[in-house]
Amino acid sequence: MYKTDLEIAQEAKLQPITEIAKKAGIPESELELYGNVKTKVSLDVLKNAEAKEDGKLILVTAINPTRAGEGKSTTTVGLVDAFNQIGKKAMVALREPSLGPVFGIKGGAAGGGYAQVVPMEDINLHFTGDMHAITTCNNLISACLDNHLHQGNELQIDKDRVVFKRVLDMNDRVLRQVVVGLGPKANGVERHDGFTITVASEIMAVLCLANSLMDLKERIGKILVAYNVEGQPVYVADLGIAGACAMVMKDAIKPNLVQTLENNPVLIHGGPFANIAHGCNSVLATRTCLKLADYVITEAGFGADLGAEKFLDIKCREANLKPNAVVIVATIRALKQHGNVAYEDLQTENVEAMLEGCCNLAKHIETIQAFGLPYVVAINEFATDTQAEVEALQTWCKRNNHPMSLSQVWAKGGEGAVDLANQLVELVEQENNYKPLYDLDASIEDKILTIAKTCYGAKDVHYTDEAKAQIAMFTQHGWDKLAICMAKVPSSLTDDAKICGAPKDFTITIRELRPSLGAGFIVALTGSVMTMPGLPKVPAANRMDIDEDGNITGLF
Ligand code: ADP
Repeated sequence: MYKTDLEIAQEAKLQPITEIAKKAGIPESELELYGNVKTKVSLDVLKNAEAKEDGKLILVTAINPTRAGEGKSTTTVGLVDAFNQIGKKAMVALREPSLGPVFGIKGGAAGGGYAQVVPMEDINLHFTGDMHAITTCNNLISACLDNHLHQGNELQIDKDRVVFKRVLDMNDRVLRQVVVGLGPKANGVERHDGFTITVASEIMAVLCLANSLMDLKERIGKILVAYNVEGQPVYVADLGIAGACAMVMKDAIKPNLVQTLENNPVLIHGGPFANIAHGCNSVLATRTCLKLADYVITEAGFGADLGAEKFLDIKCREANLKPNAVVIVATIRALKQHGNVAYEDLQTENVEAMLEGCCNLAKHIETIQAFGLPYVVAINEFATDTQAEVEALQTWCKRNNHPMSLSQVWAKGGEGAVDLANQLVELVEQENNYKPLYDLDASIEDKILTIAKTCYGAKDVHYTDEAKAQIAMFTQHGWDKLAICMAKVPSSLTDDAKICGAPKDFTITIRELRPSLGAGFIVALTGSVMTMPGLPKVPAANRMDIDEDGNITGLF
């Protein structure tokens, strides 16, 4: 029997966070301690190091995720330990987990097995309160907007065209559509509203793209909240509360420092969903790591079609980051699933199906090549992988000239990725031709078509009448020069969650577009994308418990 992630995390020998900060080169005066093992890091660390050269930036991405799990976070965390084991100064920048998935099915985002970030319970629960601050900031806007409607509506906001929603960091399906302001007049103006999960909010996206507190304030001011009765946009700035919103975020904007099981420094900061938002940790955390370490490993949500595309087209462009290499994580189990093996049969050896599923890996490799970046395939080894399967995959990679490495970090910690780290040390020195896929000046339709063709293998994009009308309207408002944030199902290259492998020449449908003007992108929604998930029949919460000494069980 294997130990659970939680059991391993609870056995960890944590060092005081001040020691970890010292190792990272952060002076104690720049720390705002939250107890002994977690701390906020002042933004002055980045400011004071502006002149220093950046370390090398390595992105960890994956094939389309399946129920079998790929292990991007696990690989990312294991990799930083591996770099440190081979004597390199490395740090990792990760996303903060959302409580919604923690209580649902997905689990946290603090790695797994012997490649984890600790204190695991805190990171997965309230951590340093960033989610709370984001939720409050968001709901302050909603409260002020509804109050504005109630107090005479000077801005002439059309109550049926409010686009800004309330948020909660919980999977709670009944809040997807609600009516607010029921009852007597004193309760405000009655209107239809809805909740989004906090990590899918624009405030989260804005936090992750801002490069300073003042930039955050400016971006919040630009967020579109509604249209007025004449169809003109109304922004947060019009409500006069951008300053208060930024104030609520004064601590949330600072990255959080924690450690791996092997006591290496990790910044965990911000965690936007990778379907509806851009799926990467904060620019501030990544840039701080780049100033402190020679090698910085970071991850982007879901597969390369979503997370990596947005990391490379949105985050790196916006923050002027220069990525040096990409790790593409795949598992033999997931490849078998892409080769049409049922979830229940993944334990059984099936070389043929695995090789069939390699088409999915090949497509994601093509995507990274299209961005002009060197890559290495990391096979995240599971105990159920057979020798024949591993060898067949190694041969497939060799035959197709794809650099690869077997990663055993889940079972062995950093030691399990020494080969991967060594390969990356060489790979990051290669000249690369990184370039975003599209020019911002292209039309919305051209940008979407470029992404769909290059990253999904689609032949065409179909727009609903609603989407067409929105494109015309956005263009009129001058919002067509923004980046595109595709909202698509993560499990498939297509917009149909059930289709695995790597289909070709299909059409995707854009159902709706939403302007995220503070974040600086237009969200293009394909099919139906969930912004407020629900809980499964038996939520993970049913397995969790705490005893009178504060010992937690069942949190993975
Ligand atoms: P991702 O970042 O791709 O969503 P994670 O790294 O968070 O995936 O891993 C998801 C779950 O899978 C975690 O609970 C982790 O412990 C488990 N996992 C990851 N790699 C392995 C492995 N090699 N063997 C067994 N379980 C693993």
